[in-house]
Amino acid sequence: MSAEATGVTGETRVLVVEDDRGIAESLVRGLRQAGYAVEGVRTGRAALAAPSPDVVLLDLGLPDIDGVEVCRRLRARSDAAIIAVTARGEEADRVVALDEGADDYLVKPFGLAELLARIRAVLRRRRPAEPEVLRHGPLVLDLRTRQVSVDGRQVTLTPKEFGILECLAADPGRLLSRQQVLERVWDDHWYGPTKVVDVHIAALRRKLGAPGLIETVYGHGFRLGEVQESQEGT
Ligand code: CA
Repeated sequence: MSAEATGVTGETRVLVVEDDRGIAESLVRGLRQAGYAVEGVRTGRAALAAPSPDVVLLDLGLPDIDGVEVCRRLRARSDAAIIAVTARGEEADRVVALDEGADDYLVKPFGLAELLARIRAVLRRRRPAEPEVLRHGPLVLDLRTRQVSVDGRQVTLTPKEFGILECLAADPGRLLSRQQVLERVWDDHWYGPTKVVDVHIAALRRKLGAPGLIETVYGHGFRLGEVQESQEGT
């Protein structure tokens, strides 16, 4: 994923899965007024075919596929927050839905204010505050200001170099293939050779000046290596 694609500034997308036309329309309208980007579908099949949203409001009583089964399949393919919706008295379904990966549930009838509060709550739980600063040995990346330093010395990087370093520093020790680096730092339409990654890594190494900080694992890719902070630099 590119840095743009992971941006959290976009609208929160809600998928409303509800076969009752009247309920669906009022939910979609209310959620749109509250500022969400909303898509409404009437069947489990359509829910499973829809692009993965941030939140799914999932009626468990659907005409085609059992709602709990839809919940299970959504959970298997997406990390969207799922709020199961049931009619009064369907407690067993609610329990099973929670076991199958739903984050919360609502019992019909419910008001818009309660729905909005539940959505805010599941989003809070799903999106823990992201770290703004990544550290690894002598390396410090400030993701907000996009400044980088090694042993306290500021290093000026190009956007691509910063992107590569961010990928590596987000999960130090994890091996990233050239293809993974391309997918995350270049856009999705890069069909050129993966060798371009090596060119940028070479420039990055020169600028960072910390031997061993970026390791090449022959035939696989790159990862951050263990490098101690230098004594005089700290
Ligand atoms: Ca229904």
